[in-house]
Amino acid sequence: TQSQSQRLMDLTDKYGAKNYQPLPIVIHRAEGIWVEDSEGNRYLDMLSAYSALNQGHRHPRIIQALYDQAGLVTLTSRAFHSDKLGPFYEKLSQLTNKDTILPMNTGAEAVETAVKAARRWAYDVKQVASNQAEIIVSEGNFHGRTVTAVSMSSHEEYQRGFGPLTPGFRVVPYGDIDALKAAITPHTAAFITEPIQGEAGIIIPPDGFLRAAHDLCKENQVLFIADEIQTGFGRTGKLFACAWENVEPDVYILGKALGGGVFPVSAVAADHAVLDVFEPGSHGSTFGGNPLGAAVAIASMDVIVDGKLADRSRELGEFFIEQLRDIKNPHIVDVRGRGLFIGLELDGPARPYCEALMAEGLLCKETHDNVIRFAPPLVIKEQELDDALARIRKVLAV
Ligand code: PLP
Repeated sequence: TQSQSQRLMDLTDKYGAKNYQPLPIVIHRAEGIWVEDSEGNRYLDMLSAYSALNQGHRHPRIIQALYDQAGLVTLTSRAFHSDKLGPFYEKLSQLTNKDTILPMNTGAEAVETAVKAARRWAYDVKQVASNQAEIIVSEGNFHGRTVTAVSMSSHEEYQRGFGPLTPGFRVVPYGDIDALKAAITPHTAAFITEPIQGEAGIIIPPDGFLRAAHDLCKENQVLFIADEIQTGFGRTGKLFACAWENVEPDVYILGKALGGGVFPVSAVAADHAVLDVFEPGSHGSTFGGNPLGAAVAIASMDVIVDGKLADRSRELGEFFIEQLRDIKNPHIVDVRGRGLFIGLELDGPARPYCEALMAEGLLCKETHDNVIRFAPPLVIKEQELDDALARIRKVLAV
């Protein structure tokens, strides 16, 4: 007889667009670091929804905030004020040390917002000639799937058939300070970069790059914009990955864990000089900053800060990387990461390993064919990480 899970996968296949190729598991419910399929099998989540679940699945405090707010008001639109928006802004402003917040919903929308802000800032503040603003981005970047976000990409598969693309982007090799220097012109509005590249396979730039890039931008009146959508909120062992080099970007682009894996919440955080380029009517979103999202985001940030999840990530990450490096397998090319943001690179496809790990009760997803990303919820306990390691060794050690 056909399992419930198989029937549900067939249904998804029958009616769904084919823009994803998920592992063959149908998740029915989840709690903390665990997910359960329709047949009651339990798996340890090592992906955390691409780092949107840093606080773990259904964190009680975040779910309580969701319930409480659902009983009051869920949506006002920005035509009116809500009593949750100010407190949300205040908390995010304190965490980022930035004056001003602009709320959106998804990561890609926050990226779009940062691009618009940088361009307007270039015209209104830096006095770049009309429509000449350029934005420098990094090779291998991932900033989302809107037409403008894929226009920033260097991956043809993200762009094929979606043209005409948005002009005005210049791609430089990731982590190459000389290339960045050479690419800056009087028209440059911003350098937008991930402090550690996630989708590219957990790529850490050379030591000192973020600091040097930040300083170079400052010297040239170029905005340093950090896309911390995946690296932010404790994932890499600091609240924000830029802090590894004591860099305070001009602009943070944030999302994912800001909504605690419960509700899509994204935002751009910057100082007045940048976000004040928007006047009423120049930008917006029906759902951006909605009371439900704002309440969830407040609780999500509280859980990160009160639980010292960045410190946890740093300590457990060091231990985890060390253990992974001890695994003997000639196909392992590299193990790298910061905090619980770890990539294990193989000399061939990672998918079969992810399938084998799934059979052992560990949910991982390959990124860029040959890298397994390990990014469990930051609430994972040391003993649970040991348990995960035992399963990983079973699959990987030869
Ligand atoms: N930027 C980075 C660095 C990301 O990792 C992602 C998502 O993986 C995005 C942007 C896009 O976010 P979203 O999928 O919420 O649009």
